[in-house]
Amino acid sequence: MVDKTNVSFMRSLCLGEIEEEIIIPFPEISEHEKETLRTVTSSIESLLKSHESEFAAWDEAGELPAAVVDELKEFGMFSFIIPEASGGMGFGSMAYSRALQEIAKHDASVAVTVGAHSSIGMRGLLLFGTQEQQDRYFSKLATGEMIAAFCLTEPGSGSDAASIKTRAVLDGDHFVLNGEKIWITNGGIADFFTVFAKTGEPDERRHLSAFIVTRDMPGVRIGKHEEKMGIRASSTTTVSFENVRVPIANLLGEEGKGFKIAMNILNSGRTGLGGGSVGGMKRLIHLATQQANSRIQFGKPIAEFGLIKKKVGQMIVDCYAAESVVTMVGGLTDQKYEDYAIEAAISKVFASEALWTTADEALQIAGGNGFMKEYPYERAMRDSRINRIFEGTNDILRLFIALTAMNDVGRQLKELSAGLEGVFNDPIKGFGVLSDYALRRATIATGIRREKNRFSKLHPLLKNQAAVFEDATRDLAGATDRVLRKHGRKIIERQLATKRLADIMIDLFVLACVLSRVNSAITAQGDKKTAREIEIATAFASQVRRRVRVNIDQIDDNADEEIKGLADYAFTVEKYVWDVL
Ligand SMILES: Cc1cc2nc3c(=O)[nH]c(=O)nc-3n(C[C@H](O)[C@H](O)[C@H](O)COP(=O)(O)OP(=O)(O)OC[C@H]3O[C@@H](n4cnc5c(N)ncnc54)[C@H](O)[C@@H]3O)c2cc1C
Repeated sequence: MVDKTNVSFMRSLCLGEIEEEIIIPFPEISEHEKETLRTVTSSIESLLKSHESEFAAWDEAGELPAAVVDELKEFGMFSFIIPEASGGMGFGSMAYSRALQEIAKHDASVAVTVGAHSSIGMRGLLLFGTQEQQDRYFSKLATGEMIAAFCLTEPGSGSDAASIKTRAVLDGDHFVLNGEKIWITNGGIADFFTVFAKTGEPDERRHLSAFIVTRDMPGVRIGKHEEKMGIRASSTTTVSFENVRVPIANLLGEEGKGFKIAMNILNSGRTGLGGGSVGGMKRLIHLATQQANSRIQFGKPIAEFGLIKKKVGQMIVDCYAAESVVTMVGGLTDQKYEDYAIEAAISKVFASEALWTTADEALQIAGGNGFMKEYPYERAMRDSRINRIFEGTNDILRLFIALTAMNDVGRQLKELSAGLEGVFNDPIKGFGVLSDYALRRATIATGIRREKNRFSKLHPLLKNQAAVFEDATRDLAGATDRVLRKHGRKIIERQLATKRLADIMIDLFVLACVLSRVNSAITAQGDKKTAREIEIATAFASQVRRRVRVNIDQIDDNADEEIKGLADYAFTVEKYVWDVL
């Protein structure tokens, strides 16, 4: 039986261990939720299909018409994750993600509006709210009488969230809130704000607290609607607080625990953004295949050309992989695993980048038409771009993935005494005197297989794909050990090496999710019906094998110093200095 309180698939993987019972069988949405989802899907279809011809105009105007927001409320789009007892649909993470996928198949701005409400705006109330707080707000949030927003970012504080300046000072039975938040999604239409402010000393980095602030509190000011590149019809504004008196009863979770609360909200909400990305990809695959079938060049549909097939085939593989990892993370959340932050970050990075590539390739298939506003592709690209930036940039998330996953290895390495250092050169000799970690490393280094170094639950048809995973896991464990020995605590400064390890981890977790999903499909439907899915697993595993190889090779053999040196030079002169003239 797995201990769900402190086990993480990826943390174990860095130690060379495949905790397959965490990811096999592939998680499934409950029957009850599936039933509600079917109704929701057809509601979304009928509501958004009727507005399809208006999407471009909303984008142009940079605003969702108020009547459309009202329709979203009437259709229950703001109630997805609110418990049924409080008038919501009570969706878990998988079902919620699937619902957002359905919205994103139509319009990204609508998906972001609904997503910001449930993924981050009111999620703090769901995760950390007291019964009294939930009773106070849940029903209003479910009907959309109150739309929610998440207020963390400030002019001087983006990725470095702990550096926020907004302050809340206790005054009797109230906190007095002062500060300014920027780029707040739903700012212009929200009534309920989850706000993060410093409650410790100004120089105490992580002493933040979370508050429920409502628009009617005197001193809450909403700025003008921002003009954006994409998701233009979603509302983005500043939200500022001038001596806002927030009752102590609106403190969310424990005082001083705000940083952890913010990170928990973002982790827990990641399947929303992931689901939206998958929905966007499914729509683009539909558009791109139609386009390729109907466009005739050189006397035949361009769909018949190999280079077009390659793009579409890759879109399928990427979409399946993104859907697998997003669903898996939803499943981990629904099964109450407590440590899934690395896996959730991986799902966000992979899905957002897969969507971006898919949008780019779909535009390429459409050729010049793709560049024209009359067609949906350029908007799809503009809409997709933000996913790699908000809810944690993918660069920061890569650092987070690798550094967090390597933590256990680092700790165990530290525990090894210097006297054992040489043992790694002669692992067999060292058996018996080695720590558990060293024993694990030694078995990996010598190729001796232990139970946890391989899959035992996968169908034999996936043997080759599983072998790719197992081999790459050994490479990852070896590389992690090597990098940590070389750089020690300074690994934090070695961002390029860290990124390579993160990329390997991303590929491996996504492959594990694909294998688990195809395995469950074979078990449920037999191998004939799943032949295409097995092809997807084969194609993805083969791509992972090559990418991991390149990343491993580049850990020691790279031009990092030259590249960083060039950047340092450019920062000094602040321009490109070479000219052929
Ligand atoms: C449309 C939109 C909607 C948004 N909605 C919300 C919202 O609802 N609520 C909210 O609170 N925020 C919101 N945000 C803010 C968003 O979350 C931030 O933009 C994001 O966290 C990045 O912060 P930043 O833009 O300040 O970039 P910065 O932190 O200034 O980073 C700039 C660049 O430097 C990189 N970088 C930073 N630090 C490091 C490092 N240590 N090592 C390597 N690279 C680094 C980053 O990856 C990035 O590429 C929104 C933003 C946008 C554009």
